[in-house]
Amino acid sequence: MTFSNLEIIPPILKAIEEQGYTAPTPIQAQAIPILLQGNDLLGSAQTGTGKTAAFTIPLLQRLFLSKPVKKPKGRRVLKALIISPTRELANQINDNIVNYSKYVGFRSVVIYGGISQHKQTSALRNGADILVATPGRLLDLIGQGYIRLNTIEYFVLDEADQMLDMGFIHDIKKIIGKLPEKRQSLFFSATMPQAILELSSQILGTPKRVTIAPDQTTAEKVSQAIYYVSKPDKVDLLRYVINKKNNTSILVFSRTKHGADKIVTALHKSNIKSEAIHGNKTQNARQKTLQRFKQNKFSVLVATDIAARGIDVSKLSLVINYDLPNVPETYVHRIGRTGRAEEVGEAITFCSSGEKGFLRDIQKLINQKIPVNSDHPFHNQKDADEMEQKPRKKPRKNSQKKQNPSTSNPKNSKRQGSVNKTESKSPFSKKSNVKRGFKRKKR
Ligand code: AMP
Repeated sequence: MTFSNLEIIPPILKAIEEQGYTAPTPIQAQAIPILLQGNDLLGSAQTGTGKTAAFTIPLLQRLFLSKPVKKPKGRRVLKALIISPTRELANQINDNIVNYSKYVGFRSVVIYGGISQHKQTSALRNGADILVATPGRLLDLIGQGYIRLNTIEYFVLDEADQMLDMGFIHDIKKIIGKLPEKRQSLFFSATMPQAILELSSQILGTPKRVTIAPDQTTAEKVSQAIYYVSKPDKVDLLRYVINKKNNTSILVFSRTKHGADKIVTALHKSNIKSEAIHGNKTQNARQKTLQRFKQNKFSVLVATDIAARGIDVSKLSLVINYDLPNVPETYVHRIGRTGRAEEVGEAITFCSSGEKGFLRDIQKLINQKIPVNSDHPFHNQKDADEMEQKPRKKPRKNSQKKQNPSTSNPKNSKRQGSVNKTESKSPFSKKSNVKRGFKRKKR
């Protein structure tokens, strides 16, 4: 399969070639023909699959092939709107548009909060064909009269599950209410819980569906490992892994902002150059840090989940989960930062005693057991053994009468559990009836 098989027009093909892409990724191969025909699309796919090109390339092609709509003065009219949950992802989408539209001559503007609106409003005044926006700033500028959505023909909602997690649901609904009825709509989400499907039905007509399963990307492209370690040893284990990986670009995930800062301080003490990005840093500081990381000015970037969302660093070969996320889907998002598109990546996860439940949830979600690496000085065999054991079956209340008298004694019930556990099915077995319902936990 090549991009020309997908009937991409020559000026866009040329730009794709310049990116060095030789073949479409699975989501591109599936989504591009659907979108070129003008269909709505419901896509289950995470960042890292080539999703951005899957929607920007056909969007640009359809814009190019449709008649130019210009106001009498010649000012460009907004025809496409792409909504993203974070500034980082918005910038990244805009970079993609700039790359692919090099020979078709469209102008895009990106807007997001946390910085002065001045540059953004003057860019809008100059006219644009495509707007990439985070929800809050978009509504703000609509309210101030800088943006009207009545000419939008293409609407893309990206990373919908993340939007909901971040509390953008009302903003999204307001934005949808301002769009023309007649439009092509695209809706992407890494996961498809019920709330997301309901939201998608308010946006899409009769969509075609494309699914790139998370486990397909995580299992096939990223080599994963669990390192059991007690909590106080995590910093030393991190230093150990970083030193072993010598000069690799590493993204370390911390669950909290405070934790991210603490990791950076600890690494500095060992002369390991690292910087943190999280919500307490200004947008400018975050962008600068990211830029420096991309330029290999330092090799270890420590990030919280929200700040890292959408980070696209090609050649990022290792992700370290310093803390396990309490929402299993987040694990999939995190390790999707490495192994981008056709690259091979590696993800190492530190797991302390208190985090074993999170690990179980993750393994259920991705339907695989992550291999354990015990070949390090901080290995915690006790936790490894506990995880290897199959889950205990709790004796059912109404089955008490049937129990052997020796086990009906509460003191013995623990032992009873351990007898049962050899009989129960492993949660990691492929055959186990794992319902992949993507239930969210309260954070
Ligand atoms: P995305 O899922 O859109 O964030 O894309 C992840 C990464 O894959 C980005 O660095 C893209 O530049 C890259 N990419 C997108 N499409 C292709 C392709 N067909 N071949 C190789 N790399 C690609």
